[in-house]
Amino acid sequence: MSKVRIYTLAKDLGLENAKLLEILDGLGVAYKSVSSTIEEDTVVLIKEILAEEGAAEAQAPAATPETQPTAAAEKDTAEKATGQTNTAQQDRAEAKTEQTSEPASTSEAPAAATPAAAPAQDIPHRAPVVTIMGHVDHGKTSLLDYIRKTKVAAKEAGGITQHVGAFEAQTSKGKIVFIDTPGHEAFTTIRARGANVADIAIIVIAADDSLMPQTREAIAHAQAAKVPMLVAINKVDLPQADPERVKTDLTQLNLVPEEYGGDVIVVPVSARTGEGVEDLLEYISLTAELEDLRADPKGEFAGVVIEGKVDRQAGVLATVMVQEGTLHVGDFLVVGESYGKIKAMTDSNGGRIKDAGPSTPVQVLGFSEVPSSGEKVQAAKNEHAAREIIAARAQDRRDAENARTQRRLTLEEMMGP
Ligand code: GDP
Ligand code: MG
Repeated sequence: MSKVRIYTLAKDLGLENAKLLEILDGLGVAYKSVSSTIEEDTVVLIKEILAEEGAAEAQAPAATPETQPTAAAEKDTAEKATGQTNTAQQDRAEAKTEQTSEPASTSEAPAAATPAAAPAQDIPHRAPVVTIMGHVDHGKTSLLDYIRKTKVAAKEAGGITQHVGAFEAQTSKGKIVFIDTPGHEAFTTIRARGANVADIAIIVIAADDSLMPQTREAIAHAQAAKVPMLVAINKVDLPQADPERVKTDLTQLNLVPEEYGGDVIVVPVSARTGEGVEDLLEYISLTAELEDLRADPKGEFAGVVIEGKVDRQAGVLATVMVQEGTLHVGDFLVVGESYGKIKAMTDSNGGRIKDAGPSTPVQVLGFSEVPSSGEKVQAAKNEHAAREIIAARAQDRRDAENARTQRRLTLEEMMGP
């Protein structure tokens, strides 16, 4: 044994990837992803640390939040910042405490939702939101269709994605939320407004075409957004497919695939035959685990508009990605300087739902004006609260406008007649 990949070692040791990464962080070992390799010496160190932790836990097995934390658990607790260090986290911790204020020993206690011995203040994990980008016709929609097991591409006018779609896929690795974008337009407009919806970007490259201008753009966008990137080499079923050429071309962009000694995860797939798709989903979960994505369904609601449109029959419809908290039918939503009351919500399969938690794309009926992609959505308890938020925003805008006018006038004075 010389070098070993992080996820392989985690599997061998029966550890979560996140736990192993925590240990590596503690040791100051640099890595890029769960597929990075580590040295044998490091593996020996990790095993020693685990043995020590095991011994410490054996001395104080009941390390629940109520008991005095052991030395080993102390660092862990501090890192999870469950109380004293950060006010935002403290707020969330308090919100959590409210939620779990019932005796933790009852059978309906939230223990069911939080397996293992996770501290009660821990914010639950949420599903990763994945965006698929790449050159036109390289198979973005087909790949999503394969995952979704429906045939949206066939129904699309001209085969070009006309709208921003978002859907939840139940995979063997848990829920993954996918965003289908026309090129990477939506991704950039959303980002331009300061919002980040995607946690992971999949760059689709056709094996018979290799890197094209929009592929390079997509890569640049993912890099600018600092979103972890996975490369899917699609259409490997074609006789003229040349995945090796794609890998070589990637290397020239300084994206060195794993097999070439780098850290870029490259998965050969076929949206036609389904080959490699399971592997891709597995890599998405591994990457998500590394990102340790969490959101509190009991926390304050925060969301982003994926797209807004007017439906002739229904009225204003908007797809909203829930990022924090939970959205309920009847809630008041504030976008920019307008608000609306949620009359109905549908999930990505078109089913009516009443509540939507983190990492859920929902279509919302009840906005008064068509919101734009990337606009942030806030929730208010009632109409009065919604109006107050809007009044404060309008005031802020007027203040900013006045300040600008004032600066211009001062400048004109200084310039003289
Ligand atoms: P997009 O523009 O990236 O969304 O690409 P589409 O999904 O619309 O696919 C473009 C064309 O490539 C369509 O004719 C698809 O049928 C075809 N295609 C997509 N994936 C594959 C694949 O894995 N193998 C083959 N042979 N064709 C594919
Ligand atoms: Mg498409």
